[in-house]
Amino acid sequence: MRVVVTGGAGFIGSALVRHLVGEAGAEVLVIDKLTYAGNLDSLASVAGRPNFRFFRADVTDTAQMAAALASFCPDQVIHLAAESHVDRSIAEASAFVQSNIIGTFSMLEAARAYWMGLSLLARTNFRFVHVSTDEVYGSLGDFDQFYETTAYDPSSPYAASKAASDHLAMAWHRTYGLPVVISNCSNNYGPCQFPEKLIPLMVLNALHGRALPVYGKGQNIRDWLYVDDHVRALVLIASRGRPGRKYNVGGRNEQRNIDVVIGICALMDELHPAGMPHSQLIRFVADRPGHDERYAIDAGRIECELGWQARENFASGLRKTVRWYIDNEWWWQPLRQQAFGGERLGLLKEV
Ligand code: NAD
Repeated sequence: MRVVVTGGAGFIGSALVRHLVGEAGAEVLVIDKLTYAGNLDSLASVAGRPNFRFFRADVTDTAQMAAALASFCPDQVIHLAAESHVDRSIAEASAFVQSNIIGTFSMLEAARAYWMGLSLLARTNFRFVHVSTDEVYGSLGDFDQFYETTAYDPSSPYAASKAASDHLAMAWHRTYGLPVVISNCSNNYGPCQFPEKLIPLMVLNALHGRALPVYGKGQNIRDWLYVDDHVRALVLIASRGRPGRKYNVGGRNEQRNIDVVIGICALMDELHPAGMPHSQLIRFVADRPGHDERYAIDAGRIECELGWQARENFASGLRKTVRWYIDNEWWWQPLRQQAFGGERLGLLKEV
């Protein structure tokens, strides 16, 4: 199996690549621009393997992408490269339009040119997996869930850029026959997540005795999934997903933000005691504009059709994640030179 992974130096992409190269024995070409969020340290465990290759490039460059596919000859392209942080998209959206919309267009065109040159059998077996988010569906009230048929209603520039890219991907299937499959996944957490995202931000701020900023009153609900569960879903979707189909991926694990932060504080009290409860560091800050209230995924389709189920429960996944950040200062220390967590973006103002 030969797999191109775009965005393979990011949080989810690197977990996927570590699995494909280290456990599944696939031949993998990572294409990544190495933005602030791309980190080769996340690939250190597989970097020397003969079945791993890395190409630093921007997915918006169609000619380079077409050349890379033509020379590597993949059976699958799993497209994760994107700008992924909602707060950054609110502060400055242009990189989101470029990488997420133009970048996906460019990957689809490169994949189409490559795919059309394949034999009939190889064309049938080829898959282009477009990795997307549940944020394209917008905000939920108390009781409903997101289904694959739920109408798109994105709130943030990030979500809107992902929604646009999903439409492009589906159009390339319907119009040109490219075997595209789309995944819409809920919030991921786990090792190697850039420390601007909620869980690593809270862990590292708690480790340094800094304030733990929580938007609004922390009542917003997210459906959390351990990153390795997402990786298993992507591998299944790439090998057995039906072209032209979307699969929602989620852990059936809804948590209020404030409960996640309190959970992290309790773990920090146990694993890294500070002489005072870490929960004293919690600060409520002005809410994020357009902040969706609740996300909840119905993962029935991938569970029934592909036999996937989330394995990690949230308590043990969170414990593993907090432990990982405590034990792996070598990974996050170089990143602490950069401001993250919203201070740089001017979005965090205590209320
Ligand atoms: P990330 O920000 O950690 O990593 C993104 C990677 O893409 C980085 O390595 C970056 O260098 C690379 N990249 C960005 N722009 C690029 C460009 N123009 N050309 C080449 N490489 C580029 O993101 P993540 O959290 O790993 O998310 C990966 C994908 O999964 C994204 O498409 C995101 O929308 C989607 N997703 C994320 C989550 C989540 O909770 N993190 C949930 C559902 C879906």
